Amino acid sequence: MKIAILPGDGIGPEIVAEAVKVLQALGLRFEMETAPVGGAAYEASGHPLPDSTLNLAKAADAILFGAVGDWKYDTLERALRPEQAILGLRKALGLFANFRPAICYEQLTHASSLKPELVAGLDILIIRELTGDIYFGQPRGRRGAPDGAFAGAEEAFDTMRYTRPEIERIAHVAFQAARQRSKRLTSVDKANVLETFQFWKDIVTEVHKGYPDVELSHMYVDNAAMQLVKAPKAFDVIVTGNMFGDILSDEASMLTGSIGMLPSASLNDKKQGLYEPSHGSAPDIAGKGVANPLATILSAAMMLRFSLNQAEAANRIETAVKKVLAQGLRTPDIYSEGTTRVGTAQMGDAVVQALA
Ligand code: NAD
Repeated sequence: MKIAILPGDGIGPEIVAEAVKVLQALGLRFEMETAPVGGAAYEASGHPLPDSTLNLAKAADAILFGAVGDWKYDTLERALRPEQAILGLRKALGLFANFRPAICYEQLTHASSLKPELVAGLDILIIRELTGDIYFGQPRGRRGAPDGAFAGAEEAFDTMRYTRPEIERIAHVAFQAARQRSKRLTSVDKANVLETFQFWKDIVTEVHKGYPDVELSHMYVDNAAMQLVKAPKAFDVIVTGNMFGDILSDEASMLTGSIGMLPSASLNDKKQGLYEPSHGSAPDIAGKGVANPLATILSAAMMLRFSLNQAEAANRIETAVKKVLAQGLRTPDIYSEGTTRVGTAQMGDAVVQALA
């Protein structure tokens, strides 16, 4: 089992170190190799995703990724900015399926901005298509408007598009994921307005024929955004396109209270995956030893389950995380009165101890 460790920038190295500690404590045999990515790689070699890092990632079964980015790189040309490393990895490895679970841990229910009864026990999974849609569609650009009331005026445009195979493969991933859970899948679209998403809806409905045991429902994205804050527990697995998934998964993350708790996985059709916390590099707290490492530790658990076929080890980590929360240990982002404030390394150590 070969794991590429890409810590990145800001709090990335601190939180990844804790996840590595937890992986090493499992008693399994991993081959782990570390490489710079993002701003760290730009500093070292002039590019956010150097060939050596990309080749390491390609050769690995899985990538454990911290976070990239810092405001100091905002003036660099776009191709050299740290965030380009993630896009480059997604593209080079064909990571089309993004899994973002939103779980509200019992002990953190009060941290949600919603009423505790709405989120207690929340456990939903958003599956976002990651390589198509309006984010990548061509043509795009700026020009003089060719027609309409403002013909000749400067305009900008993007192209929303999906091919049949792109929709089919993400639909299969979603039905299979729903099968492993409560067998309920909601496909989110905007079929009432967009041709692309009528196509999406038609194809998801076709693929459903192969999964008669899964209950499929369709929902417009505006309604889904509303239902996520009205009755989030009514969902189990949601599948949607790149842009809607981007927005809905961030909305769902806030239901759980802290971004420091949320893991994510991006998989290709060979189950090779990039695993990272849902948050960024948090430059405001980098180097202070206060970042919450649990999202990264939980990302390592997802990596064991989805790419390395080690479901039991994944369960062990997830149980250990619940145990440390039950012990009342909290990094500052999830701290509340009556609990014990700990730093990044102490939290990692506590998870290692709880594994035993
Ligand atoms: P961010 O997620 O880094 O931080 C938002 C807020 O959440 C900050 O107050 C931060 O301190 C806090 N936070 C984040 N993770 C935390 C953790 N583990 N523990 C405790 N608190 C935590 O988002 P931002 O501030 O908008 O972006 C900072 C940088 O990260 C930017 O350069 C941005 O481009 C980059 N970014 C990278 C990724 C990625 O690597 N996948 C994702 C999002 C943003």
